[in-house]
Amino acid sequence: MSETDLDEFRRIYAKHVDHVRTGDMKAAMAEMVRENLPAVFHGIDVPRSAVQHAEIIDVRADGDLRVGDSVYRLPDRSIGLRSFWEQHDGRWLAARLENFDPEPGETAGDAPSHMEFPWGPAADGLDQPYWDGSKLGELRLQRCAHCQRWIWGPQWICPACHTLCPAWQSVEPTGVVYAWSRSHRAFIQEYADRTPYVTVLVELPHAGGRRVLGLMPDADTVRIGDTVHGRFELDEGADWPLLRWYRSENRK
Ligand SMILES: [Zn+2]
Repeated sequence: MSETDLDEFRRIYAKHVDHVRTGDMKAAMAEMVRENLPAVFHGIDVPRSAVQHAEIIDVRADGDLRVGDSVYRLPDRSIGLRSFWEQHDGRWLAARLENFDPEPGETAGDAPSHMEFPWGPAADGLDQPYWDGSKLGELRLQRCAHCQRWIWGPQWICPACHTLCPAWQSVEPTGVVYAWSRSHRAFIQEYADRTPYVTVLVELPHAGGRRVLGLMPDADTVRIGDTVHGRFELDEGADWPLLRWYRSENRK
């Protein structure tokens, strides 16, 4: 491949990075392989809105693919994002993403081996509105502003109509027990003294029947079909409240 060829890709890639940097996600997505959306974002940490600074680290050819590495600086962290580009009808389009360590020189020596309370917003910011709602005692789910579909868990793109960054909406935290399970073993340290505990999967009639998980304290006799209401509760020492479910009193 000629130098000119890579130069051409470098220009296309630089434009793409600029779209991500300025938060122009519509333009950035238009430069991706459409069939790969929205799955291409699963498990990938990407900037959700404009960032302070973006730096192209490397642009290279890998067989028929072109690869670009960039680091996006956010106020609280940096994201290393690598994209793999394919030629589609004469156009370079990003087909796959992966994250890389933006500060390979730094070690995690001082970082704790585990978080004391391993819940709260994900690093990529996708579920931040849910957790912000939790502090206000509000249950928030995504609801696509275009097709009105309720979405849970959080998605970058509406799975029905592919609208970007679906909106969030509060929903009344009442529902029906769809399934439940009793755990005799604590999977996180904080629950070691609470076993056995019951986890319920609650169907939300006010949110298109989406189902959310939560603990159900005092659930000696939980039954499928029970009407329950949810409440966010903050454990001592925890940063973020957790949704817990209680049987509504009108049960027979
Ligand atoms: Zn939609």
